[in-house]
Amino acid sequence: MNYIDNLINELSRFQGIGAKTAQRLAYHLIRMPKEDAKSIAQAIIEVKDNIKFCSLCFNITAIDPCIICTAPDRDRQSLCVVEQPLDVLAFEKTAVFKGMYHVLHGAISPINGVGPQDIKLNELIKRVEVGSFDEIILATNVNLDGEATAMYVHQMLSNFGVKITRPARGLPFGGDLEYADQTTLSKAFEGRQNL
Ligand SMILES: [Zn+2]
Repeated sequence: MNYIDNLINELSRFQGIGAKTAQRLAYHLIRMPKEDAKSIAQAIIEVKDNIKFCSLCFNITAIDPCIICTAPDRDRQSLCVVEQPLDVLAFEKTAVFKGMYHVLHGAISPINGVGPQDIKLNELIKRVEVGSFDEIILATNVNLDGEATAMYVHQMLSNFGVKITRPARGLPFGGDLEYADQTTLSKAFEGRQNL
């Protein structure tokens, strides 16, 4: 077996890591002290053994339900719908939102063959059916897929008689929410508008 080629192939599985970067990472690992490289490998194993999705909100967590879903001081009447766990992290950093989350794990994207059944949308509808939400904030990304997803979710939830909002304009179009700076994200959130 060609150990180096194998490592490069494995590293290039990461989204956004091309062949060149995978090569660089592989040679970096080769030069690294054995113990350091082993602790990277160990961290990957530990994450895979211990981190799962929360059965309520689908955020990543070590305990199920997650600490946000079980926190006694959070507002159970507001639900913020996001695409990725990293978006939850971005909102939590701003401290602008004290409600519950729902992580869709993606966005509807016909071009990429991602349909409503491929994201945690049915799970969201079930939560809204049994929950007592006053407001649902559709904080999907400000790009074509994110907008289309927000529109679709809005339609699916329109019969529940719950207020549905979307963070205000001001977030840069095409940029993923997780990359927005905290001030921009807070302002967009505070200025959210009815859909
Ligand atoms: Zn949760």
